[in-house]
Amino acid sequence: MDKERQEEIIKLLTAKGAIQPCPRCHNPQFELIGEAFIQMFLDIGLAGAPRQNVPVPVIVVACKRCGYIAYHAEKVLDPNTQVKFRLYQQKMSTVMHLKRGE
Ligand SMILES: [Zn+2]
Repeated sequence: MDKERQEEIIKLLTAKGAIQPCPRCHNPQFELIGEAFIQMFLDIGLAGAPRQNVPVPVIVVACKRCGYIAYHAEKVLDPNTQVKFRLYQQKMSTVMHLKRGE
């Protein structure tokens, strides 16, 4: 993650008030680990429908003292993330097509 994006995320977290101390050890200092995707198996709610393996973009922060990790959904924190997420999906779709030889 570049310095500009790091500062942008810290600004977004601060603006949302997501600056409370660690819920485990009450240490006030967190470290911004980076941006990642959590694979979630979501039931789309229709009887007999397959579960969807959905990558959810997140911002990962960790307590500097005890290492407690927290995730922030990027789509909520940063609406621009949706653009990045679509690019990620297009990239993954292309990779899958290439793997299948399409
Ligand atoms: Zn902690």
